[in-house]
Amino acid sequence: MSFTYDERIDGALPPVDREALIAALHRLSPTMEVLHEPERLRPYECDGLSAYRTVPLCVVLPETVDEVCAVLELAAKRGVPVVARGAGTGLSGGALPLEKGILLAMSKFNRILEIDASAGIARVQPGVRNLAISQAAAPYGLYYAPDPSSQIACSIGGNVAENAGGVHCLKYGLTVHNILAVDIVTIDGERMTLGAASLDSPGFDLLALFTGSEGMLGVVVEVTVKLLPKPQCQKMLMASFDDVETAGNAVARIIGAGIIPGGLEMMDNLAIRAAEDFIHAGYPVDAAAILLCELDGAASDVDEDLAHVSELLASAGAVEIRIARDEAERLRLWAGRKNAFPAVGRLAPDYYCIDGTIPRRELPGVLKGIAALSDEYGLRVANVFHAGDGNLHPLILFDANRPGELERTEALAGKILELCVAVGGSITGEHGVGREKINHMCVQFSSDEIEFFHAVKAAFDPSRLLNPGKNIPTLHRCAEFGGMHVHHGNVPFRELERF
Ligand SMILES: Cc1cc2nc3c(=O)[nH]c(=O)nc-3n(C[C@H](O)[C@H](O)[C@H](O)COP(=O)(O)OP(=O)(O)OC[C@H]3O[C@@H](n4cnc5c(N)ncnc54)[C@H](O)[C@@H]3O)c2cc1C
Repeated sequence: MSFTYDERIDGALPPVDREALIAALHRLSPTMEVLHEPERLRPYECDGLSAYRTVPLCVVLPETVDEVCAVLELAAKRGVPVVARGAGTGLSGGALPLEKGILLAMSKFNRILEIDASAGIARVQPGVRNLAISQAAAPYGLYYAPDPSSQIACSIGGNVAENAGGVHCLKYGLTVHNILAVDIVTIDGERMTLGAASLDSPGFDLLALFTGSEGMLGVVVEVTVKLLPKPQCQKMLMASFDDVETAGNAVARIIGAGIIPGGLEMMDNLAIRAAEDFIHAGYPVDAAAILLCELDGAASDVDEDLAHVSELLASAGAVEIRIARDEAERLRLWAGRKNAFPAVGRLAPDYYCIDGTIPRRELPGVLKGIAALSDEYGLRVANVFHAGDGNLHPLILFDANRPGELERTEALAGKILELCVAVGGSITGEHGVGREKINHMCVQFSSDEIEFFHAVKAAFDPSRLLNPGKNIPTLHRCAEFGGMHVHHGNVPFRELERF
């Protein structure tokens, strides 16, 4: 993993006649905004992973599907790469522009086209914010379940491209489980629909294939999402623990008892103190870890599950269990969790968020492993994550201005990801691979598997113009990186033996 922009990607691209391209884009549609002045390009130079920055050749802001088709057709004819961008909140450099490429910003596609309450669906444009869908569905007693912590800002198009998750995905599934169809435009400017408004559609499941494809197969211009009835009752409890491993074990106890909470999140002491300082959520600042567990459904079921979960947590070693007394307290407890990233951001000049996923049973060992690595590298790590999903978000605190600290952070992040893979997990749970984790794809997948990904990419985008240099490494890159392929956790992982 390197924070340094990889110039080989742009370097390998043919030169572009910038002036001619901009003039041609203007000719496509006189009203379409095309930005090319340096000061107007600057805001688009990075996504949420601001350690990578590249100013694009130009930014195009289409407003109609015809404009998207025309831009992509033109790009294909001229051999110019295109990077789609939603709200730019991605944390893996997925929307990082190319110096010799068009950045296709979908922010003007921000309309909710239809809410069909009787069918429980909404048709929305890709630039619509995640939270705006639930807000629009609320008058019908409905909501859109996947709720990334960035939901106030991130777009549904970006959610589809990253297969975004959130605190309620443990019970309700990721983006892929909550969409029925997407309309896309291919690099040739052709519009097509993947999936259907009905529950199943014949043929290969291209919708599932497309979801999480990080803008590499096509540009999303419309999404049909499922809307769910709002649960009749939601109750939340917070359990405190004296040590992180005990909290990790308690997660397995809950799920093992056959209870699937609406959300099951964990925060360690550093994250608890940061969030408490920032939001005043009422967290116990002396606890080594807390679990936030939300139960939802019919009121009688929720009360029964709440009693059962409280018993399980007490027997698993919780030192305090607090049930939110009312809706205000429930929302306050969630607010602490949802604002944990910016809260942790106040503890150090820089922080770096990792997104590994592990089998739930491995939680205690991996948390212990992360603590040992944190000591070894001399960098503080705050843990705040989707515990029920085994989706970790270790946040490494560092100061990029201190010599060597950035490099140590990169090395530590790499070790944590390798640890996740070694226990049978993966290098990303929801933030995607993007530019950031491209080398670590070589750790996770064999050469054959990577070649297969390239073949799928080529079926959609033979000229490889959509978001090149992201997500799928070349085999040459893997060879350079010295990729170690860990298959089902069977390749020896030196560090693991210590934990
Ligand atoms: C504080 C914070 C908390 C976060 N919490 C979560 C979380 O809980 N869960 C989670 O999953 N993520 C989380 N994220 C990461 C991020 O918000 C998600 O990855 C989100 O899905 C990105 O959406 P976006 O609109 O910002 O996409 P962008 O960042 O603009 O783009 C992301 C990727 O999608 C592609 N893309 C965007 N729009 C389109 C389109 N119309 N067609 C094709 N490709 C497109 C881009 O090319 C890029 O590869 C968090 C981020 C932050 C900053």
